Amino acid sequence: MSGLINGDIMYRTHTCGELRASHAGESVTLSGWVNRRRDHGGVAFFDLRDRSGVVQITINPDLPKETLDLVEDVRFEWVLQIEGLVQKRPAGNENPNMETGEIEVIAKNITVLNPAKTLPFMVSSDADLPDENTRLKYRYLDLRRERLTNNMVLRHKVIKFMRDYLDKQGFIEIETPIMFKATPEGARDYLVPSRIYPGQFYALPQSPQQLKQLLMVAGMDKYFQIARCFRDEDLRGDRQPEFTQLDLEMSYVHRDDVLDLVEGLFTEMIPAVAPHKKLLSKPWRKISYREAMEKYGTDKPDLRFGMELQDVSDIFAKSEFKVFQGALSSGGVIKCIVAPKSADMSRKEIDALTEVAKSLGAKGMPTLAVTSEGVKGSASKFVSAEEVESLKAKVNAKEGDLILFASDAKAIANKVLGGLRVWFRDKLNLADENLMAFAWIVDFPFFAYNEETKTWESEHHPFTMPKLEDLDKFESNPGEVMSDAYDMVCNGYEMASGSIRIHRRDVQMKMFQMLGLSDEEIKTKFGHMLEAFEYGAPPHGGMAPGIDRLVMLLADEPNIREVIAFPKNQTGRDVMADAPSEVEPKQLKELQIKFEQK
Ligand code: ASP
Repeated sequence: MSGLINGDIMYRTHTCGELRASHAGESVTLSGWVNRRRDHGGVAFFDLRDRSGVVQITINPDLPKETLDLVEDVRFEWVLQIEGLVQKRPAGNENPNMETGEIEVIAKNITVLNPAKTLPFMVSSDADLPDENTRLKYRYLDLRRERLTNNMVLRHKVIKFMRDYLDKQGFIEIETPIMFKATPEGARDYLVPSRIYPGQFYALPQSPQQLKQLLMVAGMDKYFQIARCFRDEDLRGDRQPEFTQLDLEMSYVHRDDVLDLVEGLFTEMIPAVAPHKKLLSKPWRKISYREAMEKYGTDKPDLRFGMELQDVSDIFAKSEFKVFQGALSSGGVIKCIVAPKSADMSRKEIDALTEVAKSLGAKGMPTLAVTSEGVKGSASKFVSAEEVESLKAKVNAKEGDLILFASDAKAIANKVLGGLRVWFRDKLNLADENLMAFAWIVDFPFFAYNEETKTWESEHHPFTMPKLEDLDKFESNPGEVMSDAYDMVCNGYEMASGSIRIHRRDVQMKMFQMLGLSDEEIKTKFGHMLEAFEYGAPPHGGMAPGIDRLVMLLADEPNIREVIAFPKNQTGRDVMADAPSEVEPKQLKELQIKFEQK
């Protein structure tokens, strides 16, 4: 035993997780953390852990007394160096749940490299997970968990696969600045005040969008970057102020060139990095935005299960039911979904679900339950036997099914039923967790009308190319202009968006004008882009798959924070370093920043 650390100490010959039966008989030196300890009839067992895994160390009572005394003191998470002999475990003592379970290391010498205080929580198992803020405060400990370590390794594999694949396809990785000018992606900018130019600010990029397009003007042809994006958005749902994208851009391409490239990458990558995941289809489906909205009520459909939305307006064209009549006479639709094996849902459940429907914009939620005694449910009193028969035939409803209706303006009916469809997915476990249902959503409208501000906004971002045949509808009928934009979706998430870009100055100008920018604003905000387009900009396009959500799905994690090493918490704080935080008055002075009274 040596308590002191010798400057020349050789910390390890092997990692803990790599030892197998083939190493039996070898003398090894390991360094790692004490994951667990057990004492059994005078023998102590440590599980020693490093990133590669865990191995059992056996400490027999025949070691020198001072070693045994030291072993007495050793607690969880102490950092030890163990010299010992790899030995096959006696028959019957193997542990099939451990990768190293066929062997154990018989300790000969033990060095304490560093003791540890009692940790605020256990990291050797996920039982008794503390609350998330505690985990994030001690993230450097939380990451010691096998589960989080595996997530980091998986994330590395995903990124490495992307880099290798794109390298083989002739892409080069180019870094672009973090301190730049505002690049609109629909969020607020994070600003960095300049000390040298008081009163002026850099903006952190919401994405490298402008820069990657300028790289195309620069002739870089095929670019990618594992890019950090910064968006100051409301912290709704599973979002982070900064996140990572595989940002890519290509010259001289049409839409399908970009889609084929990315589909090829993902189709090869998934089995390589996450073999337990299956792809729904090869090639992936291409679904128009309109079809997605009609069938799934959303532009990010979960395709792992059916329950598609069906339009049954024709069946109820002459309905006596006031609710149906009202919708149709005001230009709306009657649509429904069929929930399997749900005819016996209780009154209480239906009421709760009606609240869900209302929160999505519905005024009510008529239902028909198909039972052996005919149809039941809130709409049953108002529908004729004929209507029921036609309905059952059209939507293929069987005994035991529950039919849920939305009768409203089409957009609302879609949204309501799209939401209910996902609700049933979760309730009835309709989606296979190991299925990755990738698809492309294509043919997006170019503009979205903002009802609040009464202005047109770009549906994707303002650098997206409209379908050229729609150019003359720009002013006369903006709502009908289609764009050359596309999204990649998987399991109900938007995983990427991209587009063929505007590479002509005149079209880009027109786009900015449509968005309500004055000539002055266009010049100060985007003058550099417009000027670049005058020096021979090649046609180009690209996209940007998000990495956090992808790794989240591959790792079967419920949120992206579990796959980010040091995420912000759900209120946007780094609780480990306590950021954001106040700064020294001197720093503010240098920046010439004064605050109004708090
Ligand atoms: N910059 C876009 C985004 O972040 C993606 C793209 O159009 O390539 O969504």
